[in-house]
Amino acid sequence: MCKWIEHGAENRRLGYPNLVGDWPVERQEQLLAAAGMRSLHPLGDQDGNEPLNVECLECGAAQTDTLFGVSEGIRLSWLPCAECNAKRFKPTQETIRTRMESLGLHLVGEFTGDPGLPLSAVCTRCSTPRAVSWTAVGGGSPPCLRCDGSKLDPDAPHRVYLIDFPHLGDRGVYKVGITHCANDNRLRSHEKAGGTVLATIEVA
Ligand SMILES: [Zn+2]
Ligand SMILES: [Zn+2]
Repeated sequence: MCKWIEHGAENRRLGYPNLVGDWPVERQEQLLAAAGMRSLHPLGDQDGNEPLNVECLECGAAQTDTLFGVSEGIRLSWLPCAECNAKRFKPTQETIRTRMESLGLHLVGEFTGDPGLPLSAVCTRCSTPRAVSWTAVGGGSPPCLRCDGSKLDPDAPHRVYLIDFPHLGDRGVYKVGITHCANDNRLRSHEKAGGTVLATIEVA
């Protein structure tokens, strides 16, 4: 529980969403596409820290990694595939362009080699410009806020929730939080951590 919260805070400090906890399948697919990998098993509910068997699309090497590990690889600018990384391949303009293209973004700016700097891109579906770093894409930020970002859309309906964690502290702890209406993953992960959802209220 505490570890989970610490990771979340650290990840938010780094500017990308919580990497530990359940990853929706779409976000797993996005990360693996960004990393140039495919899962050797059908993707399902996956925790960011659970092992995942993946295959590198560049060299065909199979390895076991976690979603968090793959995402960290992108953030730290080494290739998530151990084989490719050992050959000291670094992501190039061309690698980034191809992978962004597969996520629905056309790269218009230069990739300087620093994955943390914002890249200028345009959505290939709705033509909306997007400035997003390669690190953020690897961390699950929507490639296009308009096409992929309904969960982050501040105008979309969202819910305020109240959860009781009876086992924390001397008398238990209540948490008030906010989540979107696209799915209940946030609530389910609190329940997994021992919480009981007491109330949810949808707000416009
Ligand atoms: Zn490889
Ligand atoms: Zn779009």
